[in-house]
Amino acid sequence: MTQRVAARRAVHDFVARHQRFLLTTHLNPDGDAIGSEVAFARWLRGMGKSVRILNDSVTPNAFLFLTDEDPVEVYEPELAERRFAEADALVVLDTSNRQRIGRLATALDQHVIEIAVLDHHVSQPQGFGRVNLIDPELAATGELVYDLMREAGATIDRRAAEALYVALMTDTGGFRYSNTDSHAHRMAAELLALGLDPQELYARVHSNAPAGRLRFFGEVLAKLEMRADGQLAVLDAAPEQFQRHGLVGADTEGLVDMPRSIAGVELVALFSEVEPGKVKVSLRSAGRVAIDQVCTRLGGGGHPHAAGVLLRGTRDDARARVLPELEAALAAWNGAAARPAS
Ligand code: AMP
Ligand code: MN
Ligand code: MN
Repeated sequence: MTQRVAARRAVHDFVARHQRFLLTTHLNPDGDAIGSEVAFARWLRGMGKSVRILNDSVTPNAFLFLTDEDPVEVYEPELAERRFAEADALVVLDTSNRQRIGRLATALDQHVIEIAVLDHHVSQPQGFGRVNLIDPELAATGELVYDLMREAGATIDRRAAEALYVALMTDTGGFRYSNTDSHAHRMAAELLALGLDPQELYARVHSNAPAGRLRFFGEVLAKLEMRADGQLAVLDAAPEQFQRHGLVGADTEGLVDMPRSIAGVELVALFSEVEPGKVKVSLRSAGRVAIDQVCTRLGGGGHPHAAGVLLRGTRDDARARVLPELEAALAAWNGAAARPAS
């Protein structure tokens, strides 16, 4: 039995063994985080299990429509206390890093509870659960949830299908990133066959921003810097800009992907200082130079071609720590490309 089959079987056993589940995901949840939670919750409820979803951060407006029947609660100390006391199992989705569940990690210190981790990030060490199902080959955690539901013979109703489709659509950048493969497309096709409307779901997620977000993008993009002979594009956003446009960290979603349209760009870095002294670094690669190590070394993580880390200090401090590493990665790649293959 392969390791992956064994890990999936361990999740099925975990699900069978427990009755009262608490689900959570990473800070600043994205479409995969919320979509995976909602689908997993519906699967469990369909088996008569009791389920609560509790996250550190609020659900972005773009994904609220997924949670109509499966409410997602936001951390408050007393609420977390109650939810942990009621539950006999915790399922952590879309992260295998204990710190990334935010304040729920402190609640975990106080409660003995069995944990299952389901994720698709490159992770060292391999998760903090009793059961860890971590597959970096998958484009989204939603793919894992979908496979588990199919294996269990679960009914995938319209709401679960929408949640899973949004998970897949957002984590593949609308089926454009390098993680998009035949498995992802096959899953999308199977979900669409259940009657989903891809245009409507795309619009639900991507057509609900305030005008200020686009003005903010305009300002930040107008100051785009090109480095490393045009292979590295750098963007920078100040706390004052977030404030003036009435935006939060989640509103930068998509911004870091835009400079990838520039000919010759291999890497993009976005330094966004949402609150003074807290710099969220987002890195993207066009697919030839891996950048996850840069973030892992600094305490963050991600995938080879999309990674991030939260750094304390000024944006200048963050740039001084990250940009030389990116330039070194580019130099190494250019050197390797210049040498004839042996
Ligand atoms: P983002 O730039 O926020 O879109 O994140 C890109 C990828 O890096 C996602 O897969 C995230 O899960 C991961 N990531 C972002 N920030 C962090 C962090 N502070 N720690 C670990 N992984 C992160
Ligand atoms: Mn995520
Ligand atoms: Mn994901």
